Amino acid sequence: MSFPSLVGAVELDAAELDAADPLANLRHEFDLPKGVYLIGNSLGALPRAARDYVGEEFDRWATLGGEGHFSGQFAWETYHELLTQQLADLTGAQVDEVVAMNSLTVNLHLLLVSFYRPTTERHKVLIEDHAFPSDHFAVESQIRQRGFDPETSLVKVASRPGEETLRTEDLLAAIIEHGEQLALVLLPGVQYYTGQVLPMAEVTATGHRVGAYVGFDLAHAVGNIELNLHDWCVDFAVWCSYKYLNGGPGGVGGAFVHCDFVENRDLSKFLGWWGADPATRFQMATQFEPIPTVESWQLSNAPILPMAALRASLDVIDRAGGMGALREKSERQIEFFDRRLAETFHDRIENITPKAIGQRGCQQALRIVDGVGPQVFEALREERVFCDWREPDVIRVAPVPLYNSFADIDRFVDVLDEIM
Ligand SMILES: *Cc1c(COP(=O)(O)O)cnc(C)c1O
Repeated sequence: MSFPSLVGAVELDAAELDAADPLANLRHEFDLPKGVYLIGNSLGALPRAARDYVGEEFDRWATLGGEGHFSGQFAWETYHELLTQQLADLTGAQVDEVVAMNSLTVNLHLLLVSFYRPTTERHKVLIEDHAFPSDHFAVESQIRQRGFDPETSLVKVASRPGEETLRTEDLLAAIIEHGEQLALVLLPGVQYYTGQVLPMAEVTATGHRVGAYVGFDLAHAVGNIELNLHDWCVDFAVWCSYKYLNGGPGGVGGAFVHCDFVENRDLSKFLGWWGADPATRFQMATQFEPIPTVESWQLSNAPILPMAALRASLDVIDRAGGMGALREKSERQIEFFDRRLAETFHDRIENITPKAIGQRGCQQALRIVDGVGPQVFEALREERVFCDWREPDVIRVAPVPLYNSFADIDRFVDVLDEIM
């Protein structure tokens, strides 16, 4: 199903757009806090079915005990495999390239162990100047851990003075400039502050041209925009599931390693028993025989309860028709949101999100000037309009196509207008 072709041709209002929205009913698959919930970029909504999926695992635990590890379709030993196909679909990967495990920063460290292998000639890591603190800390500590100095080995690419977003030409030029000294490029798929989608295919191609590995943090990208990690030849990627994947607070993370590397025994890797071939795992041998997929990066037996919650959400995403269908609705919502902001505020509010639809996900980053941002944000909260505040002066608002309506966007703009 698709939006009628008249959408966009005339300027429909929120009620008309909601009536034409083939995904409008999915909202009822979620329990949303009372009010207008627009922070799926921070913590996605609770899928109602998660209570059943998790409850089933409690029941299996209560009735089967330890036999639950090996019994039936939902055996805990192989439970993580139940998520693989859906995660592969969401990231544009093969099933041997993705795994649900650990949490984002843990996975980032594990993959830096494999893909950051500095030498005296080639030791630099390129990140963005405004990188999420955890990514920054992870990279900095790995540089030190290998005996290098972030002062000389960490390259940070910034936006130009007076500009908010990174220019593709500046990113590519920096990669080429550091060329033979560059070991690794690590960037976000979607920048957490501005909502900018970075040119992942071009960055990867340019990184590879100078001989560097290229990895992405997809915290704000997975479940938000369409991804093609395999075809883009990305070396590795990591993500969390509690933002656009609605996996619940602290939910299980994910990792991608390109198939070119999944069987490479020369890559440095931190090992655990869950990365070893299940056929030999319980023989308790100490000769490591890796699973011939990205699962060989697994360390520990999987956290079943958060995985059960995540499965509930991934099943709703499947029913929506996957990321293609969600992105189609999301683009309508972005257009509508832009139109409402422009006609209501003109230039009273600065939108620092990129304008081009191909360079943004569903998040809008609105700059509130004159130092009144915190009061405006507080007033929105009192009206139970949930968005989030990022220092120094930005309100982030993310209409999520799975469960947000066009009316939610309308309500946000109306309340903000009253407050301003
Ligand atoms: C949300 C987010 C994280 C969070 O990391 P955790 O390990 O899941 O706590 C890391 N990096 C980016 C870019 C994020 O947006």
